[in-house]
Amino acid sequence: MSDEHPQDAEPLEADTGEREPQLDPELAARRRAALARIVQFGDPVLKSKGQDITVFDDALRAEIARMAELMDEALGIGLAANQVGRLKRLLVYKVEPDSPVQALVNPRIEWSSKEQEVFEEGCLSLSGVLVDVERPVHVRVRAQDGNGEGMLIEASGLEARVIQHEMDHLDGVLILDRTSRDQRKQAMRTLREQLETAA
Ligand code: ZN
Repeated sequence: MSDEHPQDAEPLEADTGEREPQLDPELAARRRAALARIVQFGDPVLKSKGQDITVFDDALRAEIARMAELMDEALGIGLAANQVGRLKRLLVYKVEPDSPVQALVNPRIEWSSKEQEVFEEGCLSLSGVLVDVERPVHVRVRAQDGNGEGMLIEASGLEARVIQHEMDHLDGVLILDRTSRDQRKQAMRTLREQLETAA
């Protein structure tokens, strides 16, 4: 999980949403269109750091709404501003299908547990890639909302993982940077093959 959409009894993905074998054709088409608007691996924006947000205006709130919609259409559970080409410290996530979208502006990890867990993650910017990533199980995060109000989030499990995955994006870090050498090599092969097929 990371930004992908978790499927029943299947490995979770973070901002992804890959592996929807029996996806309704209309939903699948919408998802493809959404993915085409998400920055894909190879674009330097994914390796760049976002800047703190200092202006909390209607434009920011509109950007949050656009990112939330795109994440939903891509069947993702998280999306960071880098993934839409914006170098700003902003992310959205929605772990449960029915829960409201959370938007975190300028998030900072205040505390993370010593307890770590390995889980398979995917990413909306790394189509077809799933790798094991070890992360703290619990985190406490300070952030602001779209109005600049301070918020404190105590998250565990999937929510903690998604937040950390998206926060990595804001620092230009990808799951490829957090997995084993072997899995990274395999993932790079998959990404290269896709590029060749698309070309
Ligand atoms: Zn991602």
